[in-house]
Amino acid sequence: MNELKLKDLYDGFRDPKTIKALKNLVDKEAAKFPGKINVMEVCGGHTHTIMKYGLNQLMPENIDFIHGPGCPVCVMPKERIDHAYILSLQEDVILVTLGDMIKVPGSHGSLQDARSKGADVRFVYSPLDTIKIARENPNKKIIFFAIGFETTTPMTAALLEHVTKNKIENIYFHINHITVPEPMKVLLESNDCQIDAFIGPSHVSVITGSKIYKEFVTKYKKPVVVAGFEPVDVMQSILAIVKQFNENRCELEIEYSRAVSNDGNIAAQNLINKYFTKATHFRWRGLGDIPDSALRLRDEYSNMDAEIIYKNILPNEKIDDHKLCICGDIMRGVAKPNDCKVFGKACKPSSPLGSCMVSSEGACSAYYKYGNLIK
Ligand code: SF4
Ligand code: SF4
Repeated sequence: MNELKLKDLYDGFRDPKTIKALKNLVDKEAAKFPGKINVMEVCGGHTHTIMKYGLNQLMPENIDFIHGPGCPVCVMPKERIDHAYILSLQEDVILVTLGDMIKVPGSHGSLQDARSKGADVRFVYSPLDTIKIARENPNKKIIFFAIGFETTTPMTAALLEHVTKNKIENIYFHINHITVPEPMKVLLESNDCQIDAFIGPSHVSVITGSKIYKEFVTKYKKPVVVAGFEPVDVMQSILAIVKQFNENRCELEIEYSRAVSNDGNIAAQNLINKYFTKATHFRWRGLGDIPDSALRLRDEYSNMDAEIIYKNILPNEKIDDHKLCICGDIMRGVAKPNDCKVFGKACKPSSPLGSCMVSSEGACSAYYKYGNLIK
């Protein structure tokens, strides 16, 4: 598809007139509702849409967006970043990872810092690019530091499938794939929970199907609307949520029906199940230890598991964040980035103290970027 056609496709979802019309409808519905509605957008991609298009400023007084833990970089605890750092500094290792991971500070520094100490750290757009690196470096151990929610797990599974089928012997895996529903439950069960409804992550739902959110409406009685990433998608989803409150309904709706179904992508789910099983727990930055909230390689693939192979040099103790950083409260939806004392001062994208400022999906980075703070 050429660029012009892609633009045509998106234009309708960003049309100011449509957004304005939806704002008027949201205002009318919200005026009928006597209380306040806090809507958590779980996913960092939605936080960016909200801030980029100023949707938070279009909301009536009684509707507020609160930001969630849906950015794989933001929720990665320091000890796992230290794992990547330590592995990258092994003499015969090339460490491969995705996106913003390279900039997140661990307790010794970031992967970028490791690079300046001589580590060979490569950044790829797709896990499958690791194959080329392995082929070109037959005498090196290539460790793929896998991160991400249900969205990126199928790509890691596809890499595993290629590695096993083609008997590639120099690719290893450090798995940090996490799952969305478990932290959402932890947030709902916490004493200071302020969440009234959810905007469900869309990319995750394309893979898993909307069925993973059923429990939130049946057991926890919180409406969930799975939304696309365009501003019109988010406005439509807010309208659907307020309507549910006014009509005393609590339902799971799919606004993003152009890509999401109830069952999701079954082929991708099967591929994931072939290689992964649930890890007993994962320590989320800001949220603590959450049982069953991550995946690990199945035992039959432990010969490729860098965490097992290098277990003697990888620390396991919990490492706390910078004491001024309140990313944890932000990801639990009980604080906003500008509640942080060092936001935009000691902590900026050029000198981040926490990963919410590093990641392009992080709430602090979105507030900084779209709150006119970039000089
Ligand atoms: S992978 Fe996509 S859906 Fe998941 S948190 Fe990131 S942007 Fe949101
Ligand atoms: S502004 Fe920086 S220090 Fe404060 S919460 Fe965000 S990332 Fe953490």
